[in-house]
Amino acid sequence: MFALDEELARWDAALPETQGAARVPLLAALAWHTRQRDPLRAQRLWAEVTPLLSLLAPAEADLLRARALLTSAESAWLRGELDAAQHQAGQALQLCRQVGDGAAAAACRVDACWVMAWTSNDGGNSAAGDDWLEQAAAAARAAADPVRIDVIDAAAGICDAFSDWQAAQQQWSGRFDADLSGAPVIAAGWISDYFGTCAFQRSEYGRAIGHLMLSFETALATGQIRRAIIVATNIGNGFTNLNAHEAALDWMQRGLDLARPTGWPLSIGMCLMQTAETLRQLGQREAAQSLLREALATLSPLSGSRAYAVALEYQGDLALDLGNHAAALESFTRLAARGDALCQNDFQSSARRGQAHALSHLARPADALAAAEGALALAREHGDASSQIAALNVLADIHARHQLPGPELMVAPNAVLHYLLLALEIAATIEGYTVPGALLDATAREYAAIGDYERAYSIALRAGASRDLTHSQQATNRAIAMQVQYQTERAQTEGEHHRQLAAAEAQRAEVLQQTSATLEHLSAIGQEITAHLDAAAVFRALDRHVHGLLDATHFSVFLLEPDGQTLVCAFGVEAGKPLQAVRVPASDPNANSARCVRERREIFIELDEEGVTPNLIPGTLPTLSLLFAPLRVGQRVLGVMTVQSLHARAYGERERLIFRTLCAYGAIALDNASAYRQVAATQNQLLEKNLELEQAYKALEEVSLTDQLTGLRNRRFFLQNVDADVAMSLRGYDAGQHRELTECDIHMPKDLVFFMVDLDHFKEVNDRYGHAAGDVVLVQMQERLREVFRESDYVIRWGGEEFLVLARATHRDDAHLVAERMRRAVAERAFELPDGVRLNKTCSIGFACFPFMPEQPRLLSWSQVVELADQGLYVAKRSGRNAWAALYSTKATREDGIFPRLMQQLDQSVADGEVRLLTNLTGPLVLGGERRRVGLSSDLEIS
Ligand code: GH3
Ligand code: MG
Ligand code: MG
Repeated sequence: MFALDEELARWDAALPETQGAARVPLLAALAWHTRQRDPLRAQRLWAEVTPLLSLLAPAEADLLRARALLTSAESAWLRGELDAAQHQAGQALQLCRQVGDGAAAAACRVDACWVMAWTSNDGGNSAAGDDWLEQAAAAARAAADPVRIDVIDAAAGICDAFSDWQAAQQQWSGRFDADLSGAPVIAAGWISDYFGTCAFQRSEYGRAIGHLMLSFETALATGQIRRAIIVATNIGNGFTNLNAHEAALDWMQRGLDLARPTGWPLSIGMCLMQTAETLRQLGQREAAQSLLREALATLSPLSGSRAYAVALEYQGDLALDLGNHAAALESFTRLAARGDALCQNDFQSSARRGQAHALSHLARPADALAAAEGALALAREHGDASSQIAALNVLADIHARHQLPGPELMVAPNAVLHYLLLALEIAATIEGYTVPGALLDATAREYAAIGDYERAYSIALRAGASRDLTHSQQATNRAIAMQVQYQTERAQTEGEHHRQLAAAEAQRAEVLQQTSATLEHLSAIGQEITAHLDAAAVFRALDRHVHGLLDATHFSVFLLEPDGQTLVCAFGVEAGKPLQAVRVPASDPNANSARCVRERREIFIELDEEGVTPNLIPGTLPTLSLLFAPLRVGQRVLGVMTVQSLHARAYGERERLIFRTLCAYGAIALDNASAYRQVAATQNQLLEKNLELEQAYKALEEVSLTDQLTGLRNRRFFLQNVDADVAMSLRGYDAGQHRELTECDIHMPKDLVFFMVDLDHFKEVNDRYGHAAGDVVLVQMQERLREVFRESDYVIRWGGEEFLVLARATHRDDAHLVAERMRRAVAERAFELPDGVRLNKTCSIGFACFPFMPEQPRLLSWSQVVELADQGLYVAKRSGRNAWAALYSTKATREDGIFPRLMQQLDQSVADGEVRLLTNLTGPLVLGGERRRVGLSSDLEIS
């Protein structure tokens, strides 16, 4: 329950040499027994014990857990947080009940009931307090723990003494041996406390102080700091009651020195109010008032406690001293109520006495008298000498102020003196009591009033001596010094408080700065993450930042499949290794990821060191901190993101905020990526369609420019391209006009030659062998044309069995060689029909060059030149077929009207030498007659 300082010193010394599980009992003992000596250290020590608990047997570990809880409970109790204290003590009690009936568990139960009892008392519920002490006593007997039994019984005796010391003595005094020399120190301390309290209630202050001093030393040496403070103030109070103010102040000082560093409200409050009371009795009313105010403020959370009731009594007495009788009446009325509630009789008498005093001054003599007589009766009943003296004093005062009938049996000539003498009589029974000067003064005054000057004089002398004793200069100086010291300390405490405030403020500012830095960082991360348009890059960015900002052994992202039924791990890394792409049904009742998506909310799981990760995916690490958050965009949930750590409590509020932000960015980025993927897919489809269309179009165009039977270009193709070639040829000629032609220019072929090729008597093929045979011949004709002409020449099926060839970049003087080659290509090789029939055919060719007149390149258009070629073909046909013929300009060619002349009077022109007819025909030439039409419509001749 309690341990001596020496024991702690031994444990402390042993600690550094102990390792592993062996440390646990040492650490736990130190933690438990420093609970009042140094609550912060106790907390630290328990924190060290907790991870080691797994090394112990379960029952043993549970008992230590209960002890740790009790330590917290006691800490809360001392801080005045009674509800928290009771809650934790209750938990501890439950834990040790579960462990069983062993001595250690029973001892733990005693200690839990002990905390329960004191918290009940501090809360003003003394009945519950008594009840808990009874349970503690039963548990102590179950534990067969003699020290605990004595301590609990002594404490119960103390509590009973407050209610009714006579009854308490009857019940308890036989229980304890008056000689404590053989008792264990701790038991002796509490039993002394019991003896002291009883003596105090009997107004045997000297005896009380003796017992309490022993109790104080024991409490101090066994780490019962709160008890030591209370006992010190009780000792001080004892001295005050003996009017030994200097000694009283000395003990108040000891109490305050112990209490101040603890910050425990009840302990500090008690010291302050006792000091205030002593100061009041020394006439230092202002100082007393300020101290008392602070005491009441400190005690206000514990307004149900006995200490608070005592403070009310002191407040009432101070108000009486200050002449503030209404306030005094109120204080004493409240005290009466508190005394009733606490069932503590010692307050009843002083409450009535105080009320009587106030009422007397408030001109309510009858009420005052009744109250004072009540106070006296109660004090007598309880054998409380001090209260009797106080009540008798008030009765004397009431009779001195008001004309009232005196008591029936009087020991003096008047009521005032009667009561004063009774008071002095009782004062004489109190050992070590210094009769107050005021009481003696009043008595001397009354003797003088009745003419007994001799007695008046001697009593006045006693009064002076008494005042010298109680109000010694030393005591007054001491009181003033204490006040100054207290105020300095308070200033220091306030200074410390302000420093702490400033530090807290600075820390807040730093946190704020960190937060804003974090926010800035996060927003940069957000920009980076959302800049990516492909999911893999988003995952990589998230992974990098998650690890930069959080403790995340595990990081994974699950995405919901389009049907919304399944979650697929789209990205996962654990301890640096990629995770498998596991699939989890969205309806899985156990998977946290699935639950997070279903419930659309963050899931935060914290396990302690011995915890077992629930629903652990096989093959993954048993993490202790797990954070899941849905990936949401508006109302849509895309999936879930999780970070997990092997450490307990890895994610505080800040980490969770960061994670939430990363999730928000991640969700947006992944949604963008998915939208982009869809758009890209659509775009690709469009592109493909376009390509197909283009190809179809090209194919179509190809078809429209191609002759279907022979595969040669058709007339449409020719008309589309001829202009470009004509223009190029003309540019070649134009160049020569602007500069001297070089050798290269001269030899550079820039003429276009138009050949018109027509199969001779083709109609016969159709007629004899059928149209299909004719087609076959046409196809073979195409092959021969390709043999003769160059790839770059345009070979056009002009219509029927007639072909136009535009030979480009050809020298006009070489054209006849090509014509001849063509003629022979047809004439010298038979065509083969499908049925094997070989067919000998010939063709006729006419050609003409563009420009017709090199000196005047624009004299004739290309279409006119084609007509001249046709004219040549016509000549070849008329002159015997299987031949070629061409028209060339000469030096004598006259520009004006040349074309009509050549078309209509070719023979004349040839004869005039205006045109030269070049041909392979050797027989007579037929130049005149009806000429066939080429078939170029006029609108196609524009260019
Ligand atoms: P000439 O020597 O005077 O040119 O006599 P020809 O029979 O070759 O000339 P004509 O213009 O009298 O007859 C041309 C024939 O060509 C008429 C037509 O039936 C035939 N023809 C035109 N196009 C095709 C075709 O695509 N296939 C077939 N098999 N015959 C065609
Ligand atoms: Mg023909
Ligand atoms: Mg023809």
